[in-house]
Amino acid sequence: MIKNLRKISNQIFSLFYPNLCAGCHNDLVSYEKIICLSCWETLPKTNFHTREKNPIEQKFWGKINIQHATSFYYFNKECRLQEILHALKYRKQYEVGILLGQKMGVDLTYATWINDIDVIISIPLSKEKMRFRGYNQSESIAQGLSAVLNIPINADAVSRIKNTESQTNKNISERFENVKDAFAVVDKEKIKNKHVLLIDDVLTTGATLEACAREILSIENCKISIATIAYAMD
Ligand SMILES: [Zn+2]
Repeated sequence: MIKNLRKISNQIFSLFYPNLCAGCHNDLVSYEKIICLSCWETLPKTNFHTREKNPIEQKFWGKINIQHATSFYYFNKECRLQEILHALKYRKQYEVGILLGQKMGVDLTYATWINDIDVIISIPLSKEKMRFRGYNQSESIAQGLSAVLNIPINADAVSRIKNTESQTNKNISERFENVKDAFAVVDKEKIKNKHVLLIDDVLTTGATLEACAREILSIENCKISIATIAYAMD
């Protein structure tokens, strides 16, 4: 109930104050768009994209065969990224995802492996969640990335076939159980022989990404790399 009230009040807030920063709610100056310069500067980058065997890649070791994995920023409850991602997920600020995707895309141009990627796929939402939120927040990140990296998006090849509960209050094994069999590849031809960059907003245990990647990897000659905006250490 309190959570819902917070969501509603946040949506009203953005409606009346569109020129305030999504992270700190201060006024934006003319050259700033959606997120202020000071907020961008406080966001802690991981630079994992240039580090082999980084902690994100290690998350998937022994589970699924991935080529590369990275998260752009560290996520913790005190950092402004939490408020920024809140704007993306609950305050209808789709453009926040595009901006974050563009920023990550610029840094990813320095990753030697990025040139091998054929297609970008974002973790799909269930139909119920799409109806509720009106958009897929990970798709907005994929759009920003695609624009900078000039790599196409495929939004139809994979779909979410199970309406899973929120992962927030679940322990690690419950999280893996919750998303098991949640995804299906619906158009195998489109991703056959492709190196897919799989996108999500936040990585915590990696359960959701793993479940989705597992389905993609079952397709003939597919390779997977993973990129998320935030890494929430569990
Ligand atoms: Zn700010």
